[in-house]
Amino acid sequence: MNKKGLLIVISGPSGTGKGTVCKKLLQRNDFWISVSATTRAPRKGEVDGENYYFISKEEFIKRIDNEDFLEHAEVYGNYYGTPKSKVLEQIDNGKDVILEIDIQGALKVKENYHDGVFIFILPPSMEELKKRIINRGTETEESLMTRFKSAYKEINFVSKYNYAVVNDTVEEAVRKIECILIAEKCRVDRIKSTIFDSREGLIHEQFYD
Ligand code: 5GP
Repeated sequence: MNKKGLLIVISGPSGTGKGTVCKKLLQRNDFWISVSATTRAPRKGEVDGENYYFISKEEFIKRIDNEDFLEHAEVYGNYYGTPKSKVLEQIDNGKDVILEIDIQGALKVKENYHDGVFIFILPPSMEELKKRIINRGTETEESLMTRFKSAYKEINFVSKYNYAVVNDTVEEAVRKIECILIAEKCRVDRIKSTIFDSREGLIHEQFYD
């Protein structure tokens, strides 16, 4: 039987370090990360097809109409969307897939994909979060305040997720996520049919052959 991969949704407010956590997770595990499409302009050093697929607003709207996205959302004035067919194909092939998306997007995925594992990354404190957004140095003063204010509100959504992981150090956050995923793979409702299938095989071999 072909076992499906996990759909792992990781989100959290801007500046919690979820990007770094995901990068480390990918270095240490055989996961597949979905590359989103966005209408936002590339930041310095970002590569098309690697960080995002950078597309125009017209193209984005066309893809919404074609139902090409698993979810899409407007975040800080730009559109972001998860390509549906690629993600579902990887899961069907047994690969564990990571979506690093915003909270609106995560909640949309949750409505349609009940099997997903929803993980919320929290900053160690609001003070630390502010420092991290400032230190990143990629935002203008205005966008910095927007991101900080929405981070404050977004933390309320933690209760919609299955797991909350505080990103105190990247190493520890990654270790916790790896533990969560090991536990998820042992959940009886995920593996019940595999257990029963192999039991039948065993009985067959021992008693009937
Ligand atoms: P940034 O512009 O800093 O790369 O990303 C801004 C926000 O958009 C982040 O919270 C990021 O997780 C989120 N994001 C990235 N890709 C997607 C996507 O495909 N869908 C949704 N809903 N959010 C996304």
